[in-house]
Amino acid sequence: MRPTLFVLSLLLLVIAYIWGQPLLRKLRHDSLKKRPFPLEWLEILETELPLYNHLPETIKQRLRSHIQVFLAEKQFIGCQGLQITDNIRLIIAAQACLLSLNLRENYYPKLKMILVYPHIFQIKRAIAVDEYIVEEQENIVSGESWGKEGQVILSWHIIQQDLANWQDGHNVIFHEFAHQLDQQEGIANGVPPLKNQADYQQWSRIFTEEYQQLQSQIENGLKLTIDPYGATHPAEFFAVVTELFLEKAQILQQFHPQLFQILKNHYQLDPFLWLDSQ
Ligand SMILES: [Zn+2]
Repeated sequence: MRPTLFVLSLLLLVIAYIWGQPLLRKLRHDSLKKRPFPLEWLEILETELPLYNHLPETIKQRLRSHIQVFLAEKQFIGCQGLQITDNIRLIIAAQACLLSLNLRENYYPKLKMILVYPHIFQIKRAIAVDEYIVEEQENIVSGESWGKEGQVILSWHIIQQDLANWQDGHNVIFHEFAHQLDQQEGIANGVPPLKNQADYQQWSRIFTEEYQQLQSQIENGLKLTIDPYGATHPAEFFAVVTELFLEKAQILQQFHPQLFQILKNHYQLDPFLWLDSQ
């Protein structure tokens, strides 16, 4: 083969690979979505996940098809002796899929596995003290999301508490999967991939304003509607307000209308369709 022909063929192969990958992925997803949804799974959603029963039928249907893809592609690992059951898989998958239901990338492309601990758990983290010193710290946590490793780590005990209080504005699954969305394009900074380039400016303005407002409310000892943990980092702020949006939409809309609207546009979800009036 002549060198130019060889280079041309190689180039064509690369182009075919780049174009073919998303197409193949879409075809695989479409075929997974068409699988019949097992009755035992439906029973779990209806009996174990209060939120599910409140969802409109159209969302339920789409959610079930997304769960099929999620469960086929993501690995679940039980830690410290926890046995992974369909119950655990369904409860986690349903809430993760609801969050990403209307996003462009709706299956957490970087996520490979979900590790589930029976209780809160301890993790070691390297914290940079300054430019030269990195210290290892041990923290007790209820959840984690690691973008580079493609992992979300959750406590089953905390998930069960959240199920019992599903409209209290705290939900470890929404929180950690919001981080996972945020980590899709690198380190979490409170800005997940947005639909249009033009959206970034508005996002940055509203989130910076609201983040600073929360910090100043804390400093001045004022009454808060957003969990003060949100003031520790812009990424935590995004995760915390996502929880509030999905579980206490009325509070968010009343006290932070700009945040409510931008999250509603971003997730393309209307929580008022399933939340009780609060
Ligand atoms: Zn967090």
